[in-house]
Amino acid sequence: MKEKFNELLRQAESICVLGHISPDGDCAGSTLGVYNYIENICEKDGLRKKVKVYLEELSDKFAYLPGYSGICHDTEEKESYELAVVCDCGDFGRLGKYMRYAKEAKSVFCADHHITNSGFGDNSVIKPDASSTCEVVYDLFDEAYIDKDVAECIYTGIVHDTGVFRYSCTSGHTMSIAGKCMDKGIDFGSIIDDSFFSMSFQQKKILAKVLTDSALSEDGKIVTAYVNSADMKAFSVGKKDMDGIIDELRTTGGVLCAIFMYQMINGQYKISMRSNTDELDVSTVAAFFGGGGHVRAAGCSLSGKPEDIIAKLTERIRLQIG
Ligand code: 5GP
Ligand code: MN
Repeated sequence: MKEKFNELLRQAESICVLGHISPDGDCAGSTLGVYNYIENICEKDGLRKKVKVYLEELSDKFAYLPGYSGICHDTEEKESYELAVVCDCGDFGRLGKYMRYAKEAKSVFCADHHITNSGFGDNSVIKPDASSTCEVVYDLFDEAYIDKDVAECIYTGIVHDTGVFRYSCTSGHTMSIAGKCMDKGIDFGSIIDDSFFSMSFQQKKILAKVLTDSALSEDGKIVTAYVNSADMKAFSVGKKDMDGIIDELRTTGGVLCAIFMYQMINGQYKISMRSNTDELDVSTVAAFFGGGGHVRAAGCSLSGKPEDIIAKLTERIRLQIG
């Protein structure tokens, strides 16, 4: 598929790069990684192409990524593209408002690592064992066009989807790609601190509130917490500020499963689930409620009272952990 990917990039005169709604570090890293890679092909080989990345607004902690300021958030545009490269998107619906660029493209190439992705597009590379989509796309890249800019993007995505090389999705291969990125001269310490660990003052405050209000159930095996829109307003935070909260819940001692949810503008709750054991596959729980993800990290959206939603999720989790 590597050859096919590079052939498609070379042939297409116009390419859009798309990712999932509420873009995270892996989504930003993989889409911008592909963007910079294409730019390098053009520059080195004297090719001219129209290339654009479309994503929802993403956290400004990713502003250091090369190409960040060129990301298009406009939906009114009348552009169309020959090739759409779709990254980190478990299903077609997760493209959100930029879905039409994929629908209108002559060809769609999908690169992903979600176990719940059954494969869409004319060509797809889905590797559920890969730590991140950044790992998937890196393996599609030709070494000659990987520079420091590409490396910064790929390293960022790997760092985010592995929780800084801690999650079980991290493999020797993941580390060897990270090592190759480091060899390009990236400032890996700052990338980890500034994009992964750093939180704004407001984020720290809402995190403190969430942890204070969190609850244990099922003999301490499940930890749950939520924030409604009134709390989010009171703390001056939005969905972009919710990153990292689920990870603080996940590392609660003795816990097998963490559930965190926040209320979205439409009143629904966006749910994040994390599992600390391979015996509990949260992607099947999420998929049951129309979402998806990975064995140890998954999500979905549900309407209703938070207590009722937690009860519904717990019922499905209980089926697996007894
Ligand atoms: P997070 O909890 O960080 O939002 O998401 C964890 C994982 O589950 C990510 O890989 C994310 O792409 C996936 N995920 C989260 N929410 C949904 C959803 O509603 N649908 C699908 N298909 N995947 C989701
Ligand atoms: Mn990912």
